[in-house]
Amino acid sequence: MLGLMQDWPLLIHRIIDHAAIQHANREVITRSIEGPFHTTTYADMRARSLKVAKRLAKEGVNQGDRIATLAWNTWRHMEVWYGVTGVGAVYHTLNPRLFEDQLIYIANHAEDRLMFLDLTFVDLMEKLQDRLPTVQRYIVLTDAAHMPQTSLRGAVAYEDWINEVDDDFAWVTVDENAAAGMCYTSGTTGNPKGVVYSHRSNVLHAMMCVAPDAIGLSSRDTVLPIVPMFHANSWSLAFSGPMSGARMVMPGMKLDGASVYELLEHGKVTITAAVPTVWLMLLQYMEANDLRPTTLERVVIGGSACPRSMIAAFESRYGISVRHAWGMTEMSPIGSSGVVKPDYGDLDQEALFDLKVKQGAAPFGVEMKITNDAGEALPWDGKTFGRLKTRGPAVARAYFRNEGGEILDADGFFDTGDVATIDPYGAMQITDRAKDVIKSGGEWISSIDIENLAVGHPDVAEAAVIGVAHPKWDERPLLVIVRKEGRTPDKAGILAWMDGKIAKWWMPDDVVFVEQIPHTATGKIQKMELREQFANYRLP
Ligand code: ADP
Repeated sequence: MLGLMQDWPLLIHRIIDHAAIQHANREVITRSIEGPFHTTTYADMRARSLKVAKRLAKEGVNQGDRIATLAWNTWRHMEVWYGVTGVGAVYHTLNPRLFEDQLIYIANHAEDRLMFLDLTFVDLMEKLQDRLPTVQRYIVLTDAAHMPQTSLRGAVAYEDWINEVDDDFAWVTVDENAAAGMCYTSGTTGNPKGVVYSHRSNVLHAMMCVAPDAIGLSSRDTVLPIVPMFHANSWSLAFSGPMSGARMVMPGMKLDGASVYELLEHGKVTITAAVPTVWLMLLQYMEANDLRPTTLERVVIGGSACPRSMIAAFESRYGISVRHAWGMTEMSPIGSSGVVKPDYGDLDQEALFDLKVKQGAAPFGVEMKITNDAGEALPWDGKTFGRLKTRGPAVARAYFRNEGGEILDADGFFDTGDVATIDPYGAMQITDRAKDVIKSGGEWISSIDIENLAVGHPDVAEAAVIGVAHPKWDERPLLVIVRKEGRTPDKAGILAWMDGKIAKWWMPDDVVFVEQIPHTATGKIQKMELREQFANYRLP
């Protein structure tokens, strides 16, 4: 017997339709690429997204065509996503921090037909366009007044382009399982691989993120997605924001501490999300200038492990609640968040911070397990660690063009490549990426735990731990440190400070000081490059 409820395909346009009906006048404020703040509303954005869709149809864009965006978080970038998906095409975010060769590879691999780009990237694409034969036309996300002289193929200013049509257009209805978006993994090993989101997966994922124990958004919130739309869908916020009716503040291209602080205050932001490096800059800026946020209530921190000292700084110093989240491009991306369940009872502050350091529990829509190398499930005791695997309607089942072959185990779980523990109440903690874990005398050492501890030292700006070859133990941890400006910590001092805070045999064998630690295009520590840099390093 079938249920007798309506068939209402989960299509992305329904999100902006809902926002325009229920939250018509809710503002979306952007620090524009041209400079000044720009304000629009959901009603207006929907009308302009319809124009984008209509104009794309006129351009000859068909269902399933890939449309590239090389852009910061702005209202125009969001309109493009809704317009592209609204005509049945597929938005493909390009990360401008990638190496040029990777950008070229990705855009060619996806066969992007058009490219929407910010003013910031005009010079770059002029240089690269000859290597991108499939891109027929470049639409610069600006107006006629700011449009530069450019040799880009078919270049046109976005505002001129959409104003060639009106908003009298019906969204194209596609199957809810049709592709809606694409994002390539950064490919730290081998070529980047395309993750292909569907309308259904994006809508379900956004619904999942809106829930209070996930990211938690409501029409009373003002959300600032600092995490870029090109970094794993800005963790759903370009969808979950309008879905919840939250007011939005879009940061444009300026992500330094001073600019982020100004945005938080100017936009009266209540919740924001970004990777730890962004928060490091904000915290340092606020500390140096004796400032505090006046409206901010919650920060979502993910993409790399959030150090305990960062949680303590936000919560103790500023009274701002930290939600530590974990995820990956292949998971749309949210996989867990650090909700404090009632099961833990009353926690004192130290115990609470210990819990918040964990990456947290899976929301509805994500199933998790940890397994040994033979694929057998391991216990949820908070101690045993194994390979973290996940399953759900917003988790990838294959990569674009089936590259990488079968990526699911026999039960349909995706191997995340992370190593983790899960405690009895479901809180997961990442120990390491499988390839970063340090194997010492047959036992595993978590590089993340040591890094977390080291950055808590008052003179340390950033820390990375890698395994280096050791004649007896196979590998031992080497701690690489960037000092805070004007501070001069030394090896003995750092090790003495760490002593007693982690297991003796986890203590780094050596500490080196560097000017800079290399980062990936999504702001993570580039462990592979560090390992190469210290490949011949002799431990004392
Ligand atoms: P990439 O950087 O490879 O393109 P993603 O941005 O999708 O890929 O990164 C996913 C990976 O980032 C995860 O598999 C995990 O290793 C790491 N990661 C994400 N969030 C966290 C977190 N909160 N703590 C520790 N690691 C994290």
